[in-house]
Amino acid sequence: MDGSWEPWTPLARRALPAMRAWRTAFHQEPELSLQEERTREKVVRALEELNIPHRTFAEGYGVVGLIGGGRSGPVVALRADMDGLPVTEATGLPFASRFPGRMHACGHDVHMASLLGAAAILQRPPRPLAGPVKLIFQPAEEEGRIGGALALIEQGCLQDPKVDYIVGQHVIPSLPLGQVGWKAGPMMAAADAFRITVRGKGGHAATPHQGPDAVVVASEIVLGMQALVSRVVDPVEPAVVSVGSVHGGTKNNILPDEVVLEGTVRSMSPATRKLLESALRRRVRSIAASLGAKVRIEYITGYPPLVNDPTTTRTVAATLAREFGRDSVVEVPAPVMGAEDFACYLEHVPGTFLRLGVGVSGRPASLHSATFAPDERALVIGAATLAAAAEGLQRGGS
Ligand SMILES: [Zn+2]
Ligand SMILES: [Zn+2]
Repeated sequence: MDGSWEPWTPLARRALPAMRAWRTAFHQEPELSLQEERTREKVVRALEELNIPHRTFAEGYGVVGLIGGGRSGPVVALRADMDGLPVTEATGLPFASRFPGRMHACGHDVHMASLLGAAAILQRPPRPLAGPVKLIFQPAEEEGRIGGALALIEQGCLQDPKVDYIVGQHVIPSLPLGQVGWKAGPMMAAADAFRITVRGKGGHAATPHQGPDAVVVASEIVLGMQALVSRVVDPVEPAVVSVGSVHGGTKNNILPDEVVLEGTVRSMSPATRKLLESALRRRVRSIAASLGAKVRIEYITGYPPLVNDPTTTRTVAATLAREFGRDSVVEVPAPVMGAEDFACYLEHVPGTFLRLGVGVSGRPASLHSATFAPDERALVIGAATLAAAAEGLQRGGS
């Protein structure tokens, strides 16, 4: 890249008191997926205070703000998720959740406050920016099946003005505070779910020969599915088939009529995703048929694989290296099998999903845990990351 770069970090640092206040308000009152009504109110109020025009939607609690709507250059969307988790907080923080069983245990409070911080500094940029910046506050990321991104996309959040690039970020304790991680190409998995109901013939456990035993058939199915990853999927393609729940029966000497298996299927490419579904259906049906049992398979499609656009990702990574220094911007070595509905936006527009380091030695709590307490210094880096990414993409990497 040529040209000079004026860092956003000093401006983000000045916005820290405001970001802290926003984050505290979000953190104290977390709301679960599809219930983010008060969170939406807080986002709307903050955007009003910043004089940023915004819209809300008929379906869901999303909010979209727009900075510099009249500018003619590329439109960059920045996205933050809004929901908390059904976890009872045990951080002991002075601004801990006031609600047992509800916690911002995935750092979405940090994402929202960072996006508002970026909005505050982008709203009064120290130099003219080429294009509009869209601020997408998205509910229901943790919902896991349909998710909040899809509803926002269907209601036009990527149109009017049409988004050219999208950038999102997620806090991550495995990356040290002060670092930002990037990865071109596949980064997170598609997550589908299945529910298999095996119907056998219930009766006395001493007379198993009188009908198909649903417990044995279900057991064969659990084991048979293990060969899908090892013998159906290309060995260099990441994939997971896991059964997370097995339910059936009431007593040691009664064979149940029915056993229900539930699990998850993870894959990194659309082709493997399709292959796994068809192979799983075939395998399960044939095992059940060979043992004379009936089976019902419900296959629930979840979030698609998250694939970062390589060109956009490299432009953003180069921009961030200028913002923070090369040592602070690291390439994420391998994809993870977790899922994220930011993937839905990437099916429509090129973009990139970044990792925001919040790791502090001696404070190793993981995402979704009751003691997850990201360092609030990450707010400055989060806001500067988003603002810099927007400017870098609008300048086309120059
Ligand atoms: Zn999460
Ligand atoms: Zn999350």
